[in-house]
Amino acid sequence: MRFDILTLFPEMFLSPFDASLLKKAIEGGLIEIGIHNIRDYAPGKHRVVDDAPFGGGGGMILKVEPVERALQAILPDREDALVLLLSPQGEQFRQDTAEELSRHDHLVLICGHYEGVDERIPHYLADREISIGDYVLSGGELAAMVVVDVISRLVEGFTGNRDSVLFDSHTTGLLEGPHYTRPRKYGEWKVPEVLLSGHKKNIENWRRREALRRTLDRRPDLLESATLSDDDKKILAALKNELSE
Ligand code: SAM
Repeated sequence: MRFDILTLFPEMFLSPFDASLLKKAIEGGLIEIGIHNIRDYAPGKHRVVDDAPFGGGGGMILKVEPVERALQAILPDREDALVLLLSPQGEQFRQDTAEELSRHDHLVLICGHYEGVDERIPHYLADREISIGDYVLSGGELAAMVVVDVISRLVEGFTGNRDSVLFDSHTTGLLEGPHYTRPRKYGEWKVPEVLLSGHKKNIENWRRREALRRTLDRRPDLLESATLSDDDKKILAALKNELSE
């Protein structure tokens, strides 16, 4: 899987991509990341990348020309890459968006900055606009890091244990239940007995129940679109009763 990132601040990406699992995936050739400075593609001696908005108003706007030139250099025939513009006005980036995007071999991410970007960038150059949440960042760089990290986790081989990804929060449509590790007893704080029992089926049932409990408690909205079995529905009814007692 390849990501190409167009940014005015390439230095922001140095340390996030140089640690932990992302670093390992890059070193192992599972993921390739190209960081491109938009300024390198700006024409003229001063390599101007932004300008004041037509019609007045505050802030500076990222110009269309350097972005188009950067795209032409990175994707001479546009290949089958998907071009994404990070934008607070875009479609919301969710786990299912990440799953869908992970099916592309090549993603190009354009990071806006300042007051925003010339509208011809989303209109003519980007295939999709992606928002990581309903708030405004000062630039698209942090959003691009989020998108790259979430999608990379889905690439086969990124995490040592595939199961840990399959049961993640939002992947199943629910929040994941609690985890514990050694010691069994920390002062008076104990680990639930069932997890120490070695009984696989009971542990699986407990985990499902706790995932349902946690989702009901923290994000009941997710239950409306989650795929629930008849057993799940019975458990939820019992949990709701517990809550109302
Ligand atoms: N004036 C713009 C508006 O109101 O829509 C906001 C511009 S913002 C200060 C600068 C850049 O940060 C944007 O062009 C975009 O690339 C990025 N950005 C800000 N918030 C974002 C979000 N929630 N998701 C993705 N990118 C975001």
